[in-house]
Amino acid sequence: MRITNAYVIVTSPGRNFVTLKIVTDEGVYGIGDATLNGRELAVASYLTDHVIPCLIGRDAHQIEDIWQYLYKGAYWRRGPVTMSAIAAVDMALWDIKAKAANMPLYQLLGGKCREGAMVYAHANGRDIAEALDRVDYYQEKGFKAIRIQAGVPGLDKVYGVVKGGVYEPAIRAAAPDETPWATEPYLDHAPKLFEAARERFGWDLHLLHDVHHRLTPIEAARLGKSLEPYRLFWMEDPTPAENQEAFHLIRQHTTTPIAVGEVFNSIHDCRELIQNQWIDYIRATIVHAGGITHLRRIAALADLYQVRTGCHGATDLSPVCMGAALHFDLSVPNFGVQEYMMHNAETDAVFPHAYTYADGYMHPGEAPGHGVDIDEELAAKYPYTPAYLPVARLRDGSMWNW
Ligand SMILES: [Mg+2]
Repeated sequence: MRITNAYVIVTSPGRNFVTLKIVTDEGVYGIGDATLNGRELAVASYLTDHVIPCLIGRDAHQIEDIWQYLYKGAYWRRGPVTMSAIAAVDMALWDIKAKAANMPLYQLLGGKCREGAMVYAHANGRDIAEALDRVDYYQEKGFKAIRIQAGVPGLDKVYGVVKGGVYEPAIRAAAPDETPWATEPYLDHAPKLFEAARERFGWDLHLLHDVHHRLTPIEAARLGKSLEPYRLFWMEDPTPAENQEAFHLIRQHTTTPIAVGEVFNSIHDCRELIQNQWIDYIRATIVHAGGITHLRRIAALADLYQVRTGCHGATDLSPVCMGAALHFDLSVPNFGVQEYMMHNAETDAVFPHAYTYADGYMHPGEAPGHGVDIDEELAAKYPYTPAYLPVARLRDGSMWNW
């Protein structure tokens, strides 16, 4: 089965998404997500200008060989732009192979290890009371795991919290929004949030929290210790992870489980974290970490060390990635949890999908392939609009980690 055509579709039904479509001589086509939040057009160009011309004429069944060809053949290895482009090709080829086999993708990945993927929702509030009302809302929808973020007194804007409306981190503007950050009020406030959550909801609910790279290692250690009484499912991205050794320090001080990796793009970003058992959950995604082919390698390494998966699943990943992720989630032995931040109605209409949610779990559906398609006519009605994640500065104006 030869690849005869491939092209990139950029659409913005409320936020920007980049999708690669690969067409074969047998009429079977596949699609892959290539969305890199805030750098969307760089991946679109990488695909259109440098990858697609090399794909035409290749055998669409040779997924591993094409992965190696794009990875080793670029000479310049790794990086989010390269790996997102490779991921899009990989996702589309797995979609084609599963459609050709007339099977849902998880069957080609070894079949299901579980009946559904437990997902966690986002409960955000301007203060503790509002955040806990959102927990209530999601618990009534059946969620077994909920991430909680609340505004911090004295801080004007806080990660995960928006003043009214639905939370969408990327803001449509020509340049990123600038937000203030101060660590001390946050460190004092976070344990109060989870104390109140346990008081109101008891212990039969998984609670998660995202630190969003805001702390130094020793501050993260202090936070982990202060949250231990509230038995978190995980503390996410406590500190930036370029220096993997930083997690050794955190690990020496706290038993609060640690999740990291939504910005990773390679197994080499987490090799030391996994092999030293400095983390409990690896959050790398199919779209940013080289596709299903590469994420399976990461999961296999993690399984040796009892590290489980917890794929990033915010709205900056398109429904195509969500669909592919659910097939991955069903098939890997060491699945932990899947993030599920629902897309808006316009996005769901552009990307018709087979996956479903019920009572705290998601299922990819039984459609052949990964089960997600794109309505190109509708997609064309939403042209690309520049949008960026905010940046953070300390009170004295120093740039900090957002
Ligand atoms: Mg996060």
